[in-house]
Amino acid sequence: MDEQPNKTDIYSNPESSVDGLESGSVETQTDSSVQNLDEPKADINTDSPIETDPSKQEDTVSLANVAADGQEAPVQYSESDILARPVPLSESLTSLQDYPTEAQKQEPPTESAVEPENITAETPLTVEEKDVPVTESDLASAEEDAKTDDSESSDPEDYSSVQFLKDLYANGNECITMANSSFPVNEETRSMLALFSNGRFFVVDQYRYDGRVLGFEYIAKKRRLQIGEPELVTATVLKDIYEYAVQMRANPNALSEEENKEQARMQRDFVTVISRAAMNQVSDIHIVVADHTTVMFRVNGLMQTEMEYNKEWGESFVRAAFASADISDSNYAQNEYQAAQKLGRTPLRGSGGRLVLPKNVLGIRLQFNPIAFGTRYVVMRLLYADESNASPEAAIADLGFNKRDIDLFYQLRAVPTGIVIVSGPTGSGKSTTLQRNMIAMLQERNYETNLITVEDPPEYPIPGARQMPVTNASIEEAKDREFTKALAAALRSDPDSLMIGEIRTLSAADLAFRGALSGHNVWTTLHANTAGAILLRLKDMGVEDFKLQDPTIMRGMLAQRLFRKLCPFCRIPASQHPEHPSVQRLRNALGDVGVEHAYLRGPGCADCDFRGVKGRIAVAEFILPDSTFLNLTLKGEVQKAQNYWINDLNGRTLRENAISQMLQGVIDIEEVERWTGFLDQPILA
Ligand SMILES: [Zn+2]
Repeated sequence: MDEQPNKTDIYSNPESSVDGLESGSVETQTDSSVQNLDEPKADINTDSPIETDPSKQEDTVSLANVAADGQEAPVQYSESDILARPVPLSESLTSLQDYPTEAQKQEPPTESAVEPENITAETPLTVEEKDVPVTESDLASAEEDAKTDDSESSDPEDYSSVQFLKDLYANGNECITMANSSFPVNEETRSMLALFSNGRFFVVDQYRYDGRVLGFEYIAKKRRLQIGEPELVTATVLKDIYEYAVQMRANPNALSEEENKEQARMQRDFVTVISRAAMNQVSDIHIVVADHTTVMFRVNGLMQTEMEYNKEWGESFVRAAFASADISDSNYAQNEYQAAQKLGRTPLRGSGGRLVLPKNVLGIRLQFNPIAFGTRYVVMRLLYADESNASPEAAIADLGFNKRDIDLFYQLRAVPTGIVIVSGPTGSGKSTTLQRNMIAMLQERNYETNLITVEDPPEYPIPGARQMPVTNASIEEAKDREFTKALAAALRSDPDSLMIGEIRTLSAADLAFRGALSGHNVWTTLHANTAGAILLRLKDMGVEDFKLQDPTIMRGMLAQRLFRKLCPFCRIPASQHPEHPSVQRLRNALGDVGVEHAYLRGPGCADCDFRGVKGRIAVAEFILPDSTFLNLTLKGEVQKAQNYWINDLNGRTLRENAISQMLQGVIDIEEVERWTGFLDQPILA
């Protein structure tokens, strides 16, 4: 808007100041007596496009007060010349939040100018001309029209087609400038422009630079409404757009004739309930239909009654919920247990594409149960999109890392330089650890950082990172060469941080160190068994000692394993099997206290598919080295370095961390011994 000449003058009329508008007082809009008009306006007023407009009365008042003095364009207008009523800032913001913000991206205004013959050639469908607003044959003929029009190669939108109007109002997209909507403009402005909740902005060609259009753009942007580049249309098309809105409001079911009104209404209630729940991060919605209907939300594990309605509402609601699902078994049957699922990205079944779940809801699992003395008990589990569900910190904790390790990760993410290396055998979860940290780092730096990853192949998407692929090669040598090539390219691409899938060759290692030495932060993995062994492995590869001795380069070394988690339902207390060899070794190592807290793997149950274990957690040892530790290790004094780390640097070994998990009943004794050796014998460094 900065280039618009009228910008600073929009509020030039002192009597219609922003304050006056935001007070919510309707009277303020009649004060706009000093404004000017240009010619076309008078024409449009006499031919009101919307007969049912309840705000017409107000518009007439404000129009009557506007004097036409024939001044030359551009003419300046105040808010009251443009808006139908003062829209309080809070209201326009609230309404904004209701709309999907990515919609604007999905529908970029493709054409800045539409070919005039395209618009005028066909008389668009209007309400007056049809009894049934849209029929299949209308659609077919509209499509045919579109087909015969081959003048454009890039498939321009046919503004005169019924399909255009249908699409425009799909997915709950609303015309917010129409009367009684969230951002109504007055009648004359309505003859020039229309703004939709997804940001699509239609302007009648000849009014593109009218003061009211420019003023409206300014106001909309000031109110932080989504507003795209104007799509230029004819007056007829704009009229159709508004008439379609009026028609939709009058008869929302017009598009899907088979649908009964009751169900459409209940589907809207369904979406409303889901939206309310999603705003509060509700995990489950419980609906009990008995003498009356109770809707309960479970938030943070606690159940609370949210709403109460009559029985009939509940029965229809449950029916509509079932009908809305994408996947459900057969037909709704009140006396049966039934399961269904609704995916977040598709419109509700039977809603004519107009109803969708809130955008942070990935999906809903619905369980329908019959209940004694009632009709139905429905539980809906809401599945949220990742970003709203768990913080990146929580996502790292989910892997099984303890508080201390999580803090160390945080420290390392905050340091802008140096190398962090995660080691472990294949399948030890190294990549996942890296990925979650990269996601966390991007969020912590507010995405104002350039993270480039080089992986072969990229294993997980990292939103906000530039993940560079490695060209496919069949033989190992060529693979390594391609990897090095991609890595070198990444370094030349102005990164702040680099994530390198795995260092396997000296050339890759050299590039990683070059990155770290030139002030970047580098995260990578390496095939090594312990954190200390990382150094020796790099030394073996041929990395020079001076790089490995520097604790500002060698920031962090982590060794991790995945341990199978005990099934909490069938695990067996170790104290029940004192004769078990592992339990005896546990007693030797940790005494009775250890035996009291530890568990053995159970026989299995339905909950763990009769395996005794369920899921895995990462257990790690994490070294933030200093130069003493690095030098001792590089000199080959591995045991000494280990002792120094444990005693002086307060290090905690992988075994210690595993034992801690064992004493919490998360993993079993044998699993600890499998990875770290017999409990009553020292581990080898
Ligand atoms: Zn079990």
